[in-house]
Amino acid sequence: MFLLKSIPKVDKFVLHEDFKEYSTALITSLTKEVLQNLRENILNENITEFKKEDLILEVLQKYKKITTPSLKKLINATGVIVHTNLGRSLIDEKVFEKIKTLASSYNNLEYDLDKGKRGERYSHISDVICRVLGCEDVLIVNNNASAVFLILNTFAKRKEVIVSRGELVEIGGSFRIPDVMRDSGAKLVEVGATNKTHLHDYEDAITQKTSMLMKVHKSNYSIEGFSSEVKFKELVELASRHDVIDYYDMGSGHLFDLPYGLDAYEPSVLEYMKLNPSLLSFSGDKLLGSVQAGIIVGKKEYISKLKKNQLLRMLRVDKITLAILEENITSVLLGKLEDIPTLKMLFSSVDELKQNAKKFQNGISDIAECQIIETKTVIGGGTTPNRTIPTIALSIKVKNFKPNKMEKLFRAKRIIGRIENERFLIDFRAIQEKEIQELINATKEIVND
Ligand SMILES: *Cc1c(COP(=O)(O)O)cnc(C)c1O
Repeated sequence: MFLLKSIPKVDKFVLHEDFKEYSTALITSLTKEVLQNLRENILNENITEFKKEDLILEVLQKYKKITTPSLKKLINATGVIVHTNLGRSLIDEKVFEKIKTLASSYNNLEYDLDKGKRGERYSHISDVICRVLGCEDVLIVNNNASAVFLILNTFAKRKEVIVSRGELVEIGGSFRIPDVMRDSGAKLVEVGATNKTHLHDYEDAITQKTSMLMKVHKSNYSIEGFSSEVKFKELVELASRHDVIDYYDMGSGHLFDLPYGLDAYEPSVLEYMKLNPSLLSFSGDKLLGSVQAGIIVGKKEYISKLKKNQLLRMLRVDKITLAILEENITSVLLGKLEDIPTLKMLFSSVDELKQNAKKFQNGISDIAECQIIETKTVIGGGTTPNRTIPTIALSIKVKNFKPNKMEKLFRAKRIIGRIENERFLIDFRAIQEKEIQELINATKEIVND
């Protein structure tokens, strides 16, 4: 009981001079927490004594933790370029320099400077996007999941949407096409079998209630062997014949032919636009290499219907998103792909990667066992399922540590590598040149710790 009575009083404790430079409100709240803990520990007889200095230290430690940003920069040494867990696409620093003024000033987001009247939020980038993609109109929403939901809700509420059984995808984070469809109010009509769907399967399922033929990019899986799917081109033609909407949820949506023969596997958005589809949507931060956004392109009549849906208000994007997207798409229009890190990494040659690996190797070869190896990686982000691209990695070992231990030590330095064939690897596919010195410093620290 004596111990309980010696617990300091909150009002007095927070006046301690060690807290002088800190926010009183936060110190008070943390103090209450620490003292409450202390009380419980005394009652449970977990402790038999305590020092005031330790309590002060505990409060200050908590203070530091809570006031340090939780989102931190790290180095992606996994080799996966579009890594959803690691933030997907990078934005070039130059782009932020350009939009800094815009973000910290008022602007013409919804103001028509010529007419002096209310303007349209989405107007700023429609010209540049339509020029790049060759579409009639475009709409930008929060992400591609929003795009899918908005499109289904606008055109297929209480109506039927025909989708192949082979394309009822679940994407990471429990985004499931059948569930999204149900929540949007659309009725799913599954056709075909898991491995095979034919054009006549869609055609046979078309009724008075059909509003849309939808195709979904398989993203994170592929069906091999005895399998076939209907090409979007055929769906566009079928939809047109029956006067229903065709829509492709393309997922990653690349604008350029992919390297390493991956283009044979999936045509680009530009190729699809030549088919004059009703609607197509894709992510802003997968293979486009820009910010989180859902990009909906297609025919003007459909896009203007989407704009009238009340839901759009909930899915609309911020000025910063629009500004970054505008910068990135303009780079594409001008052919300056080096300004888009995702594309730069994707198109880096094995030789370029090898040069970076050598720089790193030279910096650590006298302190760590390391070897440059040619291996394979995936692009990630559900872009090209089961397809690999060549890459260069450095396998590293210090002090005879096991790969698991190496992975952990590097992770503690915010370098995320991977383990392959019992070796810890730093893969250079997604490492920026400016990060090599950081890698060398971190390795030295690990060796010296
Ligand atoms: C990734 C993906 C989505 C979700 O896109 P987000 O931009 O992450 O919301 C939807 N559909 C497909 C086919 C995808 O690959």
